[in-house]
Amino acid sequence: MLKIIFLITLYFNSASVFSNERPPWFIPPPLDPTGVELETKKLDEGVYALLSNTPFADNAGFIVGKDCVLVVDAHFNGEMGLQIIEAVKKVTNLPIKYLVNLNAFGDHVFGNYVFPESTVIISHEKTLKFLKDNSLDARKKIISVTVEGDMNVFKDVKDRLPTLTFSKKMSLDLGEKIVELHYFGPGMSPSDSVLYVPSSKIAWTGNLVFGKGSIPWARSEQLRDYLETMKNFEKTIKPISIVSGHGKIADENIVEKYINYLNDVIFMSKQLHEDKKNINKFVTKLSLSSKIEIEDDIRDLMEGFHKWNVLNAYKQLN
Ligand SMILES: [Zn+2]
Repeated sequence: MLKIIFLITLYFNSASVFSNERPPWFIPPPLDPTGVELETKKLDEGVYALLSNTPFADNAGFIVGKDCVLVVDAHFNGEMGLQIIEAVKKVTNLPIKYLVNLNAFGDHVFGNYVFPESTVIISHEKTLKFLKDNSLDARKKIISVTVEGDMNVFKDVKDRLPTLTFSKKMSLDLGEKIVELHYFGPGMSPSDSVLYVPSSKIAWTGNLVFGKGSIPWARSEQLRDYLETMKNFEKTIKPISIVSGHGKIADENIVEKYINYLNDVIFMSKQLHEDKKNINKFVTKLSLSSKIEIEDDIRDLMEGFHKWNVLNAYKQLN
């Protein structure tokens, strides 16, 4: 049964990439929030990361101004959303005025419904469009692959959608604390957004940039678009610390690393295409160059991402 769910989900997610084949080497990101605890880590005055205690389950965060609080991402279900609210309460009694969803996936959105009614939920316009175009049940199915098909993880989730959107950039004043929301272009998904606190040079990158020792995953988008997006990112903001939606806190070098990696994969795929390689066979044996720094606890996952990226880049040349 799990296999069938996986097959359907993968097809649903990436029909353009894999048609109805299931790549046997692909490991879905392990995002099950069951038992996950979020550690509050103060990064600067009023700037807090909420870090998951398992390698790839979602991180979140919050920014505290003089007047109010902004929360970054709502996590996977109501239980996790409440954990975020509790973490905020331990630091401040100020109201959570804003909640930002950095992309449209359930693990960033499904906790929305436990936040106070007065909290304004913000996302990129493409995130809201996706949420409106796909029913809650359909979105649960899409993300179920990351929890081994265990729909109980989000059985209590009620739909609550953002009510405020942005297209390129939005600035929010929390009271002597400015927070910026940026859209640099498609990356892992069509609507990956980045939150930036300029006074602290700290960014939250959702799924666009994973944590320390990661590579990108061009899940559904064109690799050359992802590359342009990362170049835009590099031109526009210069964070010294990056809190990713998944993985450990990274430093600024990861942006350059992603750009180089995407360049290399695009180049490699062109070579393979010219040589008329049997791409499906090729990727099965492919592994990451030892020059690319990968964290040990996510190595297998990253190897799967790498294969996916190369196959994706190759097929996009057709
Ligand atoms: Zn995510």
